[in-house]
Amino acid sequence: MPVASLDELHWINRFARLPERFYTRLSPRPVQQPQLVHGNPQVAEWLGLTPQALQSPDTLQALAGNRAIAGAEPLASVYSGHQFGVWAGQLGDGRAHLLGEVEGPAGCFELQLKGSGLTPYSRMGDGRAVLRSSVREYLASAAMHGLGIPTTHALALIRAHDPVQRETLERAAVVTRVASSFVRFGHFQHWAAAGDHDALQILTDYVVDAWYPECRRGDDGQPVSGDIVVVNLLNAVLQRTATLMAQWQSVGFMHGVMNTDNLSIVGLTLDYGPYGFMDGFDANHICNHTDTAGRYAWNVQPAVAHWNLYRLAEALRPLVSDAAPLRAALDNFEPAFTQAFTSLMAAKLGLRHWQDDDQPLLDELWQLLHTQRADFTQAFRRLAWADLPPDAAEAEQVALDALGQRGHFLDLFYDTVSAEHWLQRWQARANHGWANPHERRQAMLSVNPLYVLRNHLAENAIRAADQGDDTEVVRLFEVLQQPYQCQPGAQAYAELPPDWARGLEVSCSS
Ligand code: AMP
Ligand code: MG
Repeated sequence: MPVASLDELHWINRFARLPERFYTRLSPRPVQQPQLVHGNPQVAEWLGLTPQALQSPDTLQALAGNRAIAGAEPLASVYSGHQFGVWAGQLGDGRAHLLGEVEGPAGCFELQLKGSGLTPYSRMGDGRAVLRSSVREYLASAAMHGLGIPTTHALALIRAHDPVQRETLERAAVVTRVASSFVRFGHFQHWAAAGDHDALQILTDYVVDAWYPECRRGDDGQPVSGDIVVVNLLNAVLQRTATLMAQWQSVGFMHGVMNTDNLSIVGLTLDYGPYGFMDGFDANHICNHTDTAGRYAWNVQPAVAHWNLYRLAEALRPLVSDAAPLRAALDNFEPAFTQAFTSLMAAKLGLRHWQDDDQPLLDELWQLLHTQRADFTQAFRRLAWADLPPDAAEAEQVALDALGQRGHFLDLFYDTVSAEHWLQRWQARANHGWANPHERRQAMLSVNPLYVLRNHLAENAIRAADQGDDTEVVRLFEVLQQPYQCQPGAQAYAELPPDWARGLEVSCSS
């Protein structure tokens, strides 16, 4: 039975059972005049909360960090990491408090407040997060989940009155993040760098037991131990990370700050900062204004993930007698990524199965989109409608689908001759293997989103929320939960960015 209070949840707090040197126990710091901007009823349900629980003043105070929760054991964890390719040494939860872990109807989830005040790991920071970046994190986690991409979730977004100094004076906010685990590659790097191999082994056992129990079995199902478990863990994290990269690439998502401390050990999209979804396609697009060198540009994300896995493998090195199996495991990244990516791209293009000779068709599409800066999301969505008129069964759908109604694939290109040429080749290939082209179209519509969290949409929601008007946050949240479904009245959310949005920049400031 769902409960109406956070105090009544089944708290198990496995991270808090790790040795004391993994964290500092401390409470979140209170904020002034907290207000709930939005709560996610689905996440509440996973935890075992009633939807009404989100509306209670008690929940608000607890998730603002203003009151303790019975059963929670708040702490800030320590980790290290490479930032922009450079070893940064000790980092840690500088503005986050892990409240604890709940065993709920949908499994075990950790709850973490972000923006909840100073910790011993705050370094030069103030421990706070601004409303602007918190709206972005809250909406992005819902958007990624809607797209079917592994991500941390957000239970609640709370606005506070406290002023926070960034480039300008802004207001504080607190997001309640929910995930199976917030352990990062950087947690492993921390203990390796400290030369504390006991801690490294304890962390490895903790992660394997909780999220990768299959690593304790060989291919034949027999128990394995020692080095093999460690190598299996690297392999398993690598597989999840490669799949995640394929998913990011396939929707034009850019994380923006793929430092090793922002990579999840369980393969989730983690730490939303200056992320972006591609508008007009530029393979080299850099979504983070602070990333002047383009280290985390769209087209290098898989390679950077691979680089980060090398850093994870280095951290695991002290636990194995021989480095060779770890090195061999790292070689699995490229095939794992390619396999995941080609199968996603085949689906997006409406190809029944990926064949090696489909590669030129895909490469030429990227080339076409890139040279003409055609809109990433609309191009794939319009492609579904491109080759034949809607039949009677699709009439209602096309009336709702802003793209079906308003434009043809070719309208996205100024050089329509080369686009037309590609389209003809695609058509000849894509019709293979389907009962009829309408079946193929429906399959394409189910994997090519109509709505993604474009920067200008987030910006509209932020500007309104800054003025105390949360309706746009609510509306966008709802639309993004079902990004593949045409939704009545939601045409504006599928449109290309307006002119005013061209100059929008997002940076590490949050
Ligand atoms: P990020 O790149 O945003 O994931 O953060 C890198 C590190 O800086 C992490 O250890 C964060 O906890 C810390 N950090 C970022 N912003 C703040 C802040 N405002 N106050 C304290 N620590 C921060
Ligand atoms: Mg981070």
